[in-house]
Amino acid sequence: MKPYLHYIPRFIQNLYPNYIWHIPQKEKIVYLTFDDGPEPMVTNWILRQLKKYMAQATFFCVGQDIDKYPQTLTEILTAGHLVANHSYSHLRTGKNDLNTYVADVERATNLLTSNNFLPSENIEARIFRPPYGRIKKKQADTLQSMGYQIVMYDLLSGDFDVQLDTQKSIRKLKKHVNPGSIIVFHNSLKAFENLQIILPELLVFLSEKDFKFETLATIR
Ligand SMILES: [Zn+2]
Repeated sequence: MKPYLHYIPRFIQNLYPNYIWHIPQKEKIVYLTFDDGPEPMVTNWILRQLKKYMAQATFFCVGQDIDKYPQTLTEILTAGHLVANHSYSHLRTGKNDLNTYVADVERATNLLTSNNFLPSENIEARIFRPPYGRIKKKQADTLQSMGYQIVMYDLLSGDFDVQLDTQKSIRKLKKHVNPGSIIVFHNSLKAFENLQIILPELLVFLSEKDFKFETLATIR
């Protein structure tokens, strides 16, 4: 079992102050985020869990999956969650030149803002999370100059890792969660087995501690 870092230390966050790692605040609010998808079966399961705790969350969706499952995107939006941008093709940052990368993000923006999806106030295409949580400075600078905010996270569930020790993940998340934490999960079939163990336990734990779950609409 390889060691897995479940939180991003402050000193690393401080190296990249132009990215959003958490939302500084005193109120007991956490920001659950779900990368990838929409994927119908996984998304519907997530929506049911969130509803039990009256939790709102942010879904960083992939354009090509939105094209495949537009109805699932609508279900996320009508449940009151925020949908944000995770690019169109989920490109790897290193393999593509600047223009290709930016164009792929813009393609997702155009899709999200095409007026095909309602309610449109639950869409924020210029809140962007880079695929794989990696982005080059030049790519980030360019997107920021175009009005995008780059949103990372300070807590990682590690749910996409098929070798994950889920109990360790849960312990680490409980230990390091703070008011304003941004936690990343995955809305994908690959992560689903782990997600089904981690997400319900974290929702129970945080609810008992009186945390509220809000969307990233606050940073608009
Ligand atoms: Zn992703």
